[in-house]
Amino acid sequence: MIAILKHGTTPEQTQHLIDWLARMDLDVHVSQGAQVTVLGLIGDTSRVDMELLGSLEMVESVKRVSEPFKQANRKFHPNDTVIDVGGVKIGGGNFVMMAGPCSVESEEQIIEVAKAVKASGANILRGGAFKPRTSPYAFQGMKGEGIQLLLKAREETGLPIVTEIMNISTLDLFRDVDIIQVGARNMQNFDLLKELGKTDKPILLKRGLANTLQELLMSAEYIMSGGNERVMLCERGIRTFETYTRNTLDLTAVCGLHELSHLPVIVDPSHATGKAKLVPPMAVAAAAAGADGLIIEVHNDPAHAMCDGAQSLTPAQFDDLSRRVRKVREAVL
Ligand code: PEP
Ligand code: MN
Repeated sequence: MIAILKHGTTPEQTQHLIDWLARMDLDVHVSQGAQVTVLGLIGDTSRVDMELLGSLEMVESVKRVSEPFKQANRKFHPNDTVIDVGGVKIGGGNFVMMAGPCSVESEEQIIEVAKAVKASGANILRGGAFKPRTSPYAFQGMKGEGIQLLLKAREETGLPIVTEIMNISTLDLFRDVDIIQVGARNMQNFDLLKELGKTDKPILLKRGLANTLQELLMSAEYIMSGGNERVMLCERGIRTFETYTRNTLDLTAVCGLHELSHLPVIVDPSHATGKAKLVPPMAVAAAAAGADGLIIEVHNDPAHAMCDGAQSLTPAQFDDLSRRVRKVREAVL
């Protein structure tokens, strides 16, 4: 349920109302916009007398929110959420370019790629240290050592870093990481999501291989209901009958998620397509569709990458993509 307050309601009146609602065992989420203040009521709202609430002097209107996601819902928070990651703003018109290799492989590799993508306009460095691989015989990542190398690359370039967590038992190793990624395969690892909800780290939550937008938003809700509201949603392609591409990039997710939610939406055309050639056009399309950012795999030597070489761009290809994305954003905004 949401209650929209009348323009001009004082902070004291608002607090008074919140206290009254809290006595009904409800959590109240306050969204203070330039024009309106929205109170989002979380909990068993069946006890709230809508007529009574709506009749209060300061209340403009009361509505039931039928969707099961509440805190992620745009109705609870009409303005776009802007997430600040070490000075880099994401969402609400602030576009982010995350780039880097699928996996951290060595100090030379990650630092070389970090410098290159930064020069081309990337503002966040990606790199997997814990890798969720389909085969147990495939390279599983450099783990803790990989995170240390990412931190070194951050020191060298100033770029904040994003890297994937697979198991909550490793959370300590992510202490200095700027954004924690939850990969597609863990989107519904609810215990992991609950624990991340207790942290203060921005979370990049990727859509599961066969999950709906509502399921993605419910997973965001797991994190947010624990107290961590800094969640970014990531469309990375879903499994369909098409085999030409690794997955099928669902660009309608950008618009759908923006309509349903206030959280920033990032698009990953690398995992969506699986083919380096298709990454730039889909990146451009995502920017045109209104994505709040991109996450792109870039490798200094894709032919010899330990993971996802076929979908990785060279630094020169990334430079070109970045230039085209900037142009498209200027054209459509
Ligand atoms: C990744 O970003 O490295 C990754 C494994 O992506 P996804 O979870 O989308 O497959
Ligand atoms: Mn990858």
